[in-house]
Parts: sequence; C-alpha cells; structure tokens
Amino acid sequence: MTNESQTVCTAAAEPVKSCVDCAVKACRKGEADKYPAFCLTKNMDPALLQSAIEAYSEEENHKVMESASAAEAKFRSKMTRVEETIEFAKRMGAKKIGIGTCMGLLDEAKIFTKILRKHGFEVYGICCKTGSVDKLQIGLEVKDPKKVPKICNPILQAKVLNEAGTDLNIAIGLCVGHDSLFYKYSDALVTTLVAKDRVTGHNPCAPLYTLNSFYSGLMEDKEKK
Ligand code: SF4
Repeated sequence: MTNESQTVCTAAAEPVKSCVDCAVKACRKGEADKYPAFCLTKNMDPALLQSAIEAYSEEENHKVMESASAAEAKFRSKMTRVEETIEFAKRMGAKKIGIGTCMGLLDEAKIFTKILRKHGFEVYGICCKTGSVDKLQIGLEVKDPKKVPKICNPILQAKVLNEAGTDLNIAIGLCVGHDSLFYKYSDALVTTLVAKDRVTGHNPCAPLYTLNSFYSGLMEDKEKK
C-alpha cells in the first residue's frame, strides 16, 4: 500500500495504479490467483484491514451494515432509490428524518416528505438558502455589489437538523462541496437521495456512459495541445 501523501503527490507521468485501473475485479469473489500486481487486496496492510473489520463491531456501524446488506439481499434491483432510502431508514429504526435540500429541488423534497410521512416518519427539512446570508458576509467574491447573492448554507442546514435531533439525515441535491460540509457537520448519519446534476436531470453517470463523445475534449492529451 502507498501512503496517502505518495498517492496524492505522485507526478503526472506515471500514475500509481489502484482499483480505478483494475480490469479483473477479482476481490469480488476472493480470486487471489487473479489479483493484478498493484491490487489493493493483495498488497493490503493486515493491520489496516483488521482495524476496518473491528470498526464494524461498533453498534451504529454494525446496524448500518446490517440494514444495508439485508435490504440489498432482499430488494437488489427491485427498488428505486426512494424506496431503498425508506427501507434503510426503517431498518435503522429512525423516527425523525432530517432533509437537507437544495432550494432548486424543494418541490422534489416536498413530494419525498409526503411519502416519508405516509410511512410514519416525522420529517424536518431545511433548504440551502435558509438564514438568507449574503455572499459578502462570509468573504466570497460577488460580480455585482448591488446584487449580492445569498449563499448555500450547508453548515447551518446541518446545525439546524442537529438541534432538531434528527435520527437520520437525507441530502437532496446539495451542490458539490456544499454536500461535503453538510456531511461534515451533521451529527446524524447522512445518506444521499439525489446527487444534483442540472445538465443530466440529476444522473451524474449519464456522461460517463458516453465518455468518448461527451468528454472528447477533456480526454485529449494535454502535452499535445
Ligand atoms: S482490490 Fe484488487 S481485484 Fe479488487 S478492484 Fe482493486 S485491484 Fe481489482
């Protein structure tokens, strides 16, 4: 295993290979004879592996793994993500659900809230513009000082849900990066229902399926430009 700084600082010339370069996916069945030379399973630090295994015995972690794997075994490819999220919340024993939503997906959050309430959950949601804080207030640049936009406020979203005492938080369409802060400051576990992608109708994988045509410019060798 390479350490973190090696991984991050490797020069562009020859990237350090990892699972994202794997063609065999042999760890799925534990086929040790097929592991590539750079395989992370093959070269794993046993102590690191053991520390992860032990962490699953912590009560909350164990419950998450039990809930997720039971749902996967029973409903794999049979449920939409909306249904899976409800199932997960039930299995986790959550009573009060927090929703951190983008303002742009508030309508979708409302529909989801109705469904959750039908299933007996208490729901408390907060949209990203809550607090109505100007960009200037947190030192962000603005194009026009006469029209100062409001920030998305993921830290406030998390803090409000913390005060509300939610058992499980669900992120709906938070911006890339804002979602990171929401996860960071949330006391309750967070699961994501919607990964926002305004271009693809919130389907971030769509352009990855059409890699050659969609990203042809991005994939060009920079050296040749
Ligand atoms: S752990 Fe090894 S076999 Fe599994 S995806 Fe990574 S490189 Fe491939």
